[in-house]
Amino acid sequence: MKTTAQIAAELQGCDPQAMRVADVNRFLEQLVEPVTQSEPLALRDALGRVLAHDLVSPISVPPHDNSAMDGFAFDGSQLRAGQALVLRLCGTALAGKVWRGRVAAGECLKITTGAVMPGALDTVVPLEFVQARGDVIEIPADVVRAGDNRRLLGEDLLAGQAALRRGQLLGPAALGLIASLGLGTVSVRRRVKVAYFSTGDEILSLGQAPRAGAVFDSNRYTVCGLLQRLGVEVIDLGVVADSPTLLQAAFHQAAACADAVITSGGVSVGEADHTRSMLRQLGDMAFWRVAMRPGRPLAVGRISSAADHGGAGTLVFGLPGNPVAVMVTFLVFVRPALLRLMGCSAVEPVLLKAHSLEPLRKKPGRTEYQRGIVGQSADARLSVRVTGNQGSGVLHSMVQANGLIVLHHDQSDVAAGDEVDVMMFDGVV
Ligand code: AMP
Ligand code: MG
Repeated sequence: MKTTAQIAAELQGCDPQAMRVADVNRFLEQLVEPVTQSEPLALRDALGRVLAHDLVSPISVPPHDNSAMDGFAFDGSQLRAGQALVLRLCGTALAGKVWRGRVAAGECLKITTGAVMPGALDTVVPLEFVQARGDVIEIPADVVRAGDNRRLLGEDLLAGQAALRRGQLLGPAALGLIASLGLGTVSVRRRVKVAYFSTGDEILSLGQAPRAGAVFDSNRYTVCGLLQRLGVEVIDLGVVADSPTLLQAAFHQAAACADAVITSGGVSVGEADHTRSMLRQLGDMAFWRVAMRPGRPLAVGRISSAADHGGAGTLVFGLPGNPVAVMVTFLVFVRPALLRLMGCSAVEPVLLKAHSLEPLRKKPGRTEYQRGIVGQSADARLSVRVTGNQGSGVLHSMVQANGLIVLHHDQSDVAAGDEVDVMMFDGVV
């Protein structure tokens, strides 16, 4: 296994004092190995879990050609452009029952949605297009083409093909698809455990009496919420004061029970920032200043523990203390890294383009994240405006926002009307 120093050395031209966001993510790609263990789960319990193996379809879905409409099924080769077609009704095929008769030329079958299409028939004319008199129907000229309204066997999935790939995050659609194959259990990667604690002598837990110079711990709630959304098992280790002994005990505890530990505060170079020096003693850590705003100080690496039987060790993310910075660095670095750890194949956030409704100041040479409200402008394009005060301690700006405006490393000032990238919060924040 490579050390953090070896990984960093292989990334050409990165500067620990001004790491680019992209370089941090390239580093994390190398550092983080997916968990390998898997477990069988009842489909109902598998929401938000990651598929451990390719899922080969045991059957075709749909298992037979069937009608997409309520109407009349017939052989479409009898249709002539510009001419009506008159057919005689010879029976009715209902969904769930197989109709076993024969349909001759000049005949049709009344059929309901989902009913099996008899082999010789390939076209369905919807009920509402047809004039019926007794057992004779007339299909007006040019209302259907041959092959219309027939769903083909295996149109969704063919037996023997991979229906889903290993690494698929199982959302409601994927669960439905697995159910459509008749499978009631699914093999998923084991759940990842992530421990979190806040650091700082000034941080109060809820319920503690306010005192001069202290602030309530908000990071614990934002980070634990973000982790819950990610579907990992969250281990909340509370607040740890800026004391080397307490920090050491907290890191040991975290390393003994979690795959990753996240902390906030104490990684800048302030006097009481013991987290940094403690981490240096406990494991293989890299300390950076990242060229980003908000954010900047970041500690990443691995610590090992007695409980770790020669494994990769516990991943550590030492995030900055400022409430917005902690959320932004989580979204930009921690979330993709944890998705990778969970075994997910798609880890990068999707960026959308929106037109900025206002000019934005931006200094080239760092990546900036502004809190934005994305909406639709009159011409139906996406537009975005900034939520007031962008201070890295102003959590209000995150609450009002529905996404982050991403102003890339080399980008400079944005004029009103310019397109910018946005990372949406939907389902994430
Ligand atoms: P630090 O990174 O430790 O220098 O902290 C930077 C700023 O974030 C300081 O103003 C801290 O008081 C604040 N801060 C640190 N941790 C938390 C937390 N858990 N909740 C709210 N604010 C915090
Ligand atoms: Mg501090």
